[in-house]
Amino acid sequence: MPELPEVEQVRISLAPHVVGRKFTGVRVDVPKMVRHPDVEKFRKALLGREITGVGRRGKYLRLELDNGNWLLVHLRMTGALLAVKKELPEPRFTHLVFQLDGPENLYFTDIRKFGVVALINGDGYQDKGYTSLGPEPLDAELTPLYLREKARGRSTMLKVFLLDQSIIAGLGNIYADETLFAAGVRPTRRVNRITRKEWETLTLAMKAVITQGLQHHGTTFRNYQDADGHMGDNSRYLQVYHRKGQPCLRCGTLLKQIKVGGRGSVYCPRCQK
Ligand SMILES: [Zn+2]
Repeated sequence: MPELPEVEQVRISLAPHVVGRKFTGVRVDVPKMVRHPDVEKFRKALLGREITGVGRRGKYLRLELDNGNWLLVHLRMTGALLAVKKELPEPRFTHLVFQLDGPENLYFTDIRKFGVVALINGDGYQDKGYTSLGPEPLDAELTPLYLREKARGRSTMLKVFLLDQSIIAGLGNIYADETLFAAGVRPTRRVNRITRKEWETLTLAMKAVITQGLQHHGTTFRNYQDADGHMGDNSRYLQVYHRKGQPCLRCGTLLKQIKVGGRGSVYCPRCQK
């Protein structure tokens, strides 16, 4: 699933293709991907509107419109937004097409069809996942103290805690596993037993792995690509994610994979306590 660095790369790559463009048509092949309002209203609301900016919060994208409304986009597991010249064939797995007044159209492709869009137009509709987002790893308010306060009185496993978007926005399986390895802490530790020193190490590690992911334009294993169809370069820098059974790059011990909160988690049994 695209996480903060991947979605940020989509935002950066998408903006030059769509900002200043107007919607001239909207085609919806998979209605369930339009979460709000109904498909007909959704189409009508977009036609003629201009895109004035592309923003991001956590793993969500925001396409801002000239009337103050905006389009909320979540790519979920395998979604992609691709800007493709009109004369070229439509990309595979296209389910939504945004026809624009420029030389390109914007295609929402998604192998698994879990991706969603919603028009946020002030009619009272709210996306709960979006409105409950916590701070992002690189925000100033994401401090060891903030995490310690959030963990107080909870016995959640650390990996589950790190993936909770209402606590930290934008972290997913890749960067959570990398954070835990860099900090030397096991994914199964209970958050009320994490020491003050460990929260400090975890916070620094999280900021470092996210920064690295951004610098390398995200991580591509299978599906992730940006709006130009480019893949991220970060997979070659990963220490543990997707390396189960391979030797730890720090100590040589074979990396283990376990399930934590239903998610595969790779860690080093020797380096992580
Ligand atoms: Zn190790």
